[in-house]
Amino acid sequence: MSTYARFPLTLVRGKGSRVWDDNGNEYLDFISGIAVNTLGYTHPQLTAALSEQADTMLHCSNLFHIPKQQQLAEKLTALSGLGAAFFCNSGAEANEAAIKLARKHFHDMDSSRRTIITATQSFHGRLLSTLAATGQDKVKVGFDPLPPGFLHVPLNDIEALKQAVNEQTAAVLLEPLQGEGGVNIATGAYLQSVRKLCDDLGLLLILDEVQTGIGRCGTMFAFEQAGIVPDILTLAKGLGGGVAIGAMLATNAVADSFGPGTHGSTFGGNPLACTAALTVLDVIESDSLLSNVRLRGEQLRQGLQALACRFPVILQVRGQGLLIGAEMSVEVAPLITAARDKRLLLLMAGPNVLRFLPPLNVSMADVDEALSIVCTVLESTLGAGE
Ligand SMILES: *Cc1c(COP(=O)(O)O)cnc(C)c1O
Repeated sequence: MSTYARFPLTLVRGKGSRVWDDNGNEYLDFISGIAVNTLGYTHPQLTAALSEQADTMLHCSNLFHIPKQQQLAEKLTALSGLGAAFFCNSGAEANEAAIKLARKHFHDMDSSRRTIITATQSFHGRLLSTLAATGQDKVKVGFDPLPPGFLHVPLNDIEALKQAVNEQTAAVLLEPLQGEGGVNIATGAYLQSVRKLCDDLGLLLILDEVQTGIGRCGTMFAFEQAGIVPDILTLAKGLGGGVAIGAMLATNAVADSFGPGTHGSTFGGNPLACTAALTVLDVIESDSLLSNVRLRGEQLRQGLQALACRFPVILQVRGQGLLIGAEMSVEVAPLITAARDKRLLLLMAGPNVLRFLPPLNVSMADVDEALSIVCTVLESTLGAGE
């Protein structure tokens, strides 16, 4: 079905940060399958691990213990400071699981708290519950009735959040940095105040790190930069490096509400997907990719900042690590087309924000090349500034 307005391009293979179309043309890919291809394309370690696992076992169901799933749960809980993990297959499923767990937690405490407060401009996925959670009306049109129990407040406005909280509030659900909504950063001070508010009132803090997690923002999880820990954390996009997997982590106290029969997923946490995620985490560590994300992120941001001085159409450059947005005073769609013609793949985050999502192992030369193409595109489509 025509659920995507696709670029007029057919991609058939990739290597590192490069992809090739069906005519053999090479592109520098700063989309990475929408923040999914953490290690770029066909990373030899990932390919080898997947091939070995395919030759051992693809799937056996959660009716049985799965060693790779156990290892992945241990790894993710150790990294995040949370206590237990549930595995599913996508970001929306991870958020659905988080919403169910938060409600069940208060049900088990004989509390009537059920409402979840999220941010305007947020994006939490395309399931009915996660659409209801999403703070953008455009994605909801035609799908009513959506599940009740969600409310939206402006990001970074702690007073608005305090006003919205009442005796029905169960949780606050936030992206530390809104990806789809325009690369909008939740400030460290805001996240700390939200954490404190949740602690004071006994509410749960759920962080949706489906896009920001797994090193994308220069730390394994973006929340580390605010010095807080959520009660529930959701992950997906970059976790499997291209293999579908989602995860929902929680503190032990909260996770206890998910006993046998309360939630499930046939494919969730299968040996193949868990092998992919374990390999992604291993390579992030062994190849010091967090440090690469910070260095290349700084290079990209500074390069874009320099372009902003030359081209006033760039209003602001913002983001963390290798999730960077350039807000423009013009629509970015024509720029994306022009960049594609020059063999650079870029994404938008709303009509006016150019989004850069290279793989976490992108090289200095690749970032320079991308910046030079963006410069050429701005020169040719807008005429030089100054
Ligand atoms: C992409 C995204 C989702 C949805 O993930 P799917 O895998 O497409 O279901 C949810 N939350 C955030 C923050 C995302 O960026």
